[in-house]
Amino acid sequence: MTIIDNPATAAPTVPAGRLFIGGEWRDASDGRRTTIVNPATGAALREVAAATTSDVDDAVAAARNAFDSGIWSGLSSRERARILQRAYQIMRERTEELAAVESANVGKPIMLAQFVDVNNAAELYEYYASLGHHLDGSVRETTGNTHAYVKREPLGVVVAITPFNFPLILSSSKIAPALIAGNTIVHKPAGDTPLSALIMAEILAEAGVPAGVFNVVTGSGATLGDHLVGHPDVDKVAFTGSTDVGAHAAALAAQTLKPFTAELGGNAANIVFADADLDQAIGTIISAFVFNSGQFCMAGPRLLVERPIYDTVLGILGQAVPQVPFGSPTDPATVIGPLASQTQLDKVSAIVERAKAAGAQVITGGSPVDLDGGFYYAPTVLAGLPSSAEIVAEEVFGPVLTVEPFDTEEEAIALANGTAYGLASGVQTSDLAKAHRVAAKLQAGITWVNGWALLDPSVPFGGVKASGWGREGGPEAMESYQRAHSIVFNLEQGAAR
Ligand code: NAD
Repeated sequence: MTIIDNPATAAPTVPAGRLFIGGEWRDASDGRRTTIVNPATGAALREVAAATTSDVDDAVAAARNAFDSGIWSGLSSRERARILQRAYQIMRERTEELAAVESANVGKPIMLAQFVDVNNAAELYEYYASLGHHLDGSVRETTGNTHAYVKREPLGVVVAITPFNFPLILSSSKIAPALIAGNTIVHKPAGDTPLSALIMAEILAEAGVPAGVFNVVTGSGATLGDHLVGHPDVDKVAFTGSTDVGAHAAALAAQTLKPFTAELGGNAANIVFADADLDQAIGTIISAFVFNSGQFCMAGPRLLVERPIYDTVLGILGQAVPQVPFGSPTDPATVIGPLASQTQLDKVSAIVERAKAAGAQVITGGSPVDLDGGFYYAPTVLAGLPSSAEIVAEEVFGPVLTVEPFDTEEEAIALANGTAYGLASGVQTSDLAKAHRVAAKLQAGITWVNGWALLDPSVPFGGVKASGWGREGGPEAMESYQRAHSIVFNLEQGAAR
């Protein structure tokens, strides 16, 4: 498989940088456009339309009309499955282009963009296409003289709002199950990273998704978010993003009693027991906090190490972390690229500076890196801070690891759960009984044992506590995009007259 040498050159293939509404590409109603920046250089990459609330109205109307016409919901789920399967195949054919655009827009190392982002996103379409062959209702055994069956129906118009860090994967984890269930969609990607969503509009249309079923509005969440979430013709909101914005949007959705799924922030603990296979654990620890430059809701930025190996682990991290290939996302050897925006770089720099001022011991990193004009921050390991320190307690969303020692299993569990969030968690140990015991007590939607980010389209993920509610991935995600409709017949003699 070839890799495009310069992802920036692929960006012009993004269709027109316009809105995709009712099967047509069009400019924003007021003609405004916004500049998308390449995080690896700080240079302009593309311009895209900055939608207005009137464009949102048009997109919702297109989705509403498409839903009500039955052009999509009226197909059998097997027919919809064939179309999603075609989308999967086109994504495979356009893998290198999708990866190049995702890399150029988000700053992702090209190899990871291809083998993680595009791969996982395509597999989500393949997986939900396969579920489309099994979306049957059910017959219920009733106690009365009745015949009852339960149909599974789509909800209607779904608004899919996604964050900047994994545009393709996180949009696919909403769009694929929503489409297979028969819903229509208005997708609003993050303001800074909308490019792959425009390619997906092209791919879904080519696969056979009818006009109006899938619409994309690009622009700022501050301008469009409330209008989308509060819109009376929207039947469901699937939101992934920060806890603060998610809580705001959930409260707004509640005013019109819309179902709302909330995939929010995280601050996972990675617990390493002294009996862990240290070579494997070190690889897991590092990948858990540097993957996607730490801009990963399920990253493992809080490392909890059993005291007998605490100093050893710190020593190894101090040596190993600076060796991880760091630099331009276009280099196939790069593992850690830039942060996705100047805003992210400023946020990460500021929180690390506050941690240093509060007495953090810098094991490695701890500052921005001046490279090519991009938004680079050195992978950073900090120790000597209490769990209450801001940088330990809050989501940093950068390549920053804090390390704390623990003495007992109970203390490790208490430290791991001692945060507002509950998205992911990890346990590294060679004692399987201990792994089961500890995993069962961790407050998180997913727990990895002897690894990290072991994700698959068939495995649900989602949050507890401030990390939100609802699940994406697996058959569980279908619950978010369908409702049960019970139909009950009276079988008493003469009832049908
Ligand atoms: P964000 O909350 O700033 O933005 C998320 C999306 O919401 C964007 O599309 C944004 O334009 C939109 N938005 C902004 N204001 C809105 C409003 N009033 N109403 C509706 N939508 C609005 O998040 P971000 O900075 O793009 O992403 C980082 C955050 O996302 C982190 O907290 C991260 O943990 C979280 N995240 C969670 C998951 C998960 O699966 N739980 C996955 C990825 C990222």
